Amino acid sequence: MNVAGILKSKGSEIVTATANETLRDLAGTLAKRKIGAIVVTDASGGVAGIFSERDLVRAIAASGESALNDLVREHMTKDVVTCARDDTVADLMSKMTEGRFRHLPVVEDGKLIGIISIGDVVKRRIQETELEVEAMRGYIASG
Ligand code: AMP
Repeated sequence: MNVAGILKSKGSEIVTATANETLRDLAGTLAKRKIGAIVVTDASGGVAGIFSERDLVRAIAASGESALNDLVREHMTKDVVTCARDDTVADLMSKMTEGRFRHLPVVEDGKLIGIISIGDVVKRRIQETELEVEAMRGYIASG
């Protein structure tokens, strides 16, 4: 299974924001959409940053409730690791493990075309493992 297959089954809806929104706006979006991260896009639809619930917790821990009035641009991660359509589940697992994050925007020709979360990766890894076990059972039973 690769990123193209994951996007086909989960759909390619992406929740985005602009860097000029406030943390209060993004906290509302995270809660309403029941997601853990939002991709911040630039005027041309490219990835300008990513803002996750961890960034929100960090900002509030540092400055208290007043952080909610700050702009996303001050708290988002600007150096975003992305993935491509043909990346495999193993590629995604290694990018997330090495980067210690749980979200990977999918980019093609400089444009955002989807987002993969750690939940999507775990779900496909479990499916792959179940298929491997079934194949192994069949192999043993036929021997
Ligand atoms: P997460 O585990 O996705 O909630 O994110 C943990 C931290 O990593 C936060 O500071 C995010 O802004 C950042 N982050 C999340 N995804 C990425 C990514 N794909 N590339 C770079 N940083 C990221």
